[in-house]
Amino acid sequence: MKVDSIIVGQGLAGSCLALALAHRGKTFMVFDEPAKNHTTAVAPGLFNPIIGKGLTKTWMAETTFPFAEKFYQGIERQLGCRFYHPMPIYRPFISVEEQNEWMALSEGRLKSFIEKTYTSPAFGNFVNDPLGGILVKKSGYVNTVTLMSSVVGWLKKNGQYRESHVDFDRLKIESGNVLYEDVEAKDIIFCDGVRVKKNPFFSWVYINCLKGETLTIQLTNPLNVIFNRGVYLVPTANPLVCLVGATYKPNDATENFTPEGEQELREKLDALIKIPYTVEDRHWGIRPAVPDRRPVLGHHPLYKNVFLLNGMGTKGVTLAPYFATSLAARLDQAGEIPDEVNIKRFKSLYSKFGFSSNV
Ligand SMILES: Cc1cc2nc3c(=O)[nH]c(=O)nc-3n(C[C@H](O)[C@H](O)[C@H](O)COP(=O)(O)OP(=O)(O)OC[C@H]3O[C@@H](n4cnc5c(N)ncnc54)[C@H](O)[C@@H]3O)c2cc1C
Repeated sequence: MKVDSIIVGQGLAGSCLALALAHRGKTFMVFDEPAKNHTTAVAPGLFNPIIGKGLTKTWMAETTFPFAEKFYQGIERQLGCRFYHPMPIYRPFISVEEQNEWMALSEGRLKSFIEKTYTSPAFGNFVNDPLGGILVKKSGYVNTVTLMSSVVGWLKKNGQYRESHVDFDRLKIESGNVLYEDVEAKDIIFCDGVRVKKNPFFSWVYINCLKGETLTIQLTNPLNVIFNRGVYLVPTANPLVCLVGATYKPNDATENFTPEGEQELREKLDALIKIPYTVEDRHWGIRPAVPDRRPVLGHHPLYKNVFLLNGMGTKGVTLAPYFATSLAARLDQAGEIPDEVNIKRFKSLYSKFGFSSNV
């Protein structure tokens, strides 16, 4: 079977790339091992244009957020499903100083992302907010499980999906040609998340494991706003079930949920909410994180038809649509990869590993 591309991995990156390539009329085969997905499958899918501690705007929020909205709403129409949920985020103040700081920011550099500033309790029945809080707009969540299952259904219907492991020993790369099983393609794109660390083509790229744990909790009242202070509380398809997350443990690739993770989440949750809850489930996942917090796109230094789309870090929901679309344009010879996210920035690492580089 002849296709334009082979895509390895169907998390957020691979799903968005498949959709972007299809939009350009390209053909492809996706290989994935969904049972081994512990990143996209566990992500609560929050998108927040303001980053917590530094009170700064999320990188490229003005561009990637509206792009993601249009992209996801297009998929919802195309596939007849619903997973994109715009919703405000409420962040209670913890001190008068913080209240003052936010009052200034809401009139200043963060004005376009702030719906309202409250100086007295606004959601006092739900959370501890004696000093009020900030209501952020242009935020919400993507139900990543629904997104992935809708995409896989679409791929299967079109005969573009194989649930199997891609074995590097059986992959044949030639100039202008890639062969795997009975599939012949012009190029191959690895969207393999943290498993890139075992990928012989790209293990030299500086992508670290950033472990995260979450809880699934049951509430007595549904949420119509996302709460965020220490932890975030994000709705799911069931209005009374929420995800609480997440922990951040750099350089941890252990594949388990831990009692310490649960304790940390429970303590932060207890400080945030007033209402009763029961813990129904626990999850762990590992984010593919890059020290400069930018995705990594581009081709291998020697094999010009072997590509990587990775490094989505903590913001896959908003980064994947935009950068998968950039890569699809590049694969279609219709665009260049921006320097900031280009794999070329790791060129020196490639040389360090003893390979000659002609990137
Ligand atoms: C606890 C937690 C909370 C998070 N919360 C958020 C959030 O609220 N908002 C947000 O934007 N982001 C969040 N993230 C980050 C987000 O989940 C990631 O940025 C994103 O999911 C990464 O997607 P990916 O497609 O690159 O990787 P993955 O989802 O890991 O997908 C890679 C896929 O490739 C497959 N694969 C790898 N190698 C092979 C092979 N050789 N053969 C076949 N298949 C292969 C894997 O099985 C997997 O299915 C969170 C992550 C975690 C862990």
